[in-house]
Amino acid sequence: MNTELLYMKNMSQIQCSSKIVDHHQDGDKTILVLNQTIFYPQGGGQPYDTGSIKSRDGNLVFRVQEVRFIDGVVHHIGVIENGDLSIGMEVNCFVDEDRRRLNTRIHSAGHLIDMALKELNIDWTPGKGYHFPQGAYVEYHGKIDGLDIEKLKTKIEKKCNEIISRNIETKIVFDENKLQNGKQMRTVFYGEYGIPCEGTHVSNLKEIISSGIRKIKKEKDAIRVSYSIGKQYT
Ligand SMILES: [Zn+2]
Repeated sequence: MNTELLYMKNMSQIQCSSKIVDHHQDGDKTILVLNQTIFYPQGGGQPYDTGSIKSRDGNLVFRVQEVRFIDGVVHHIGVIENGDLSIGMEVNCFVDEDRRRLNTRIHSAGHLIDMALKELNIDWTPGKGYHFPQGAYVEYHGKIDGLDIEKLKTKIEKKCNEIISRNIETKIVFDENKLQNGKQMRTVFYGEYGIPCEGTHVSNLKEIISSGIRKIKKEKDAIRVSYSIGKQYT
């Protein structure tokens, strides 16, 4: 049975109730499968969530250290800190909020660069992204030869920050009839700009706070744009 992916519908939800449908051991790790989850499994360049899963009576405490999506099923990989697991057990899921929020902001900041390039009429096609706190980048295919890289960096950064200042809300639109890798396809809109993406996104682009373009360089046949985001003080 496929895991219902609650984070696809509500990207800011960090708690949910659920039920254990399967579990097994893999070395010193326990793998837990639930009927539904808010834990984001690694994918699309975005790191997985961590957190905890607890039984309703509070006896079971399972520490989620890694989350993977395998053939439609989310594997919550971790260790039992207290109590015992059983199939059918009613549990509550708690995602580590700080890690999720940071990963979400970094991920959205990557798509913000796509959006900035489009507004600047720079004809680069988005490739892969690496939205990790250390060394985040997005790659593109297009022309870079003969361009003034320093000027370009400043121009893209300025555009990203100008877009952030517009206070743009994001929204999810599902394509009811289309499935991809066992997931319902959806488009996330940053204002009018649509992104087919399964990751988690900020609800308003101002949550990114600010964008910094650190480096633009050729990486094999791609153009790699390394970026950073502003610190969150709240
Ligand atoms: Zn994405």
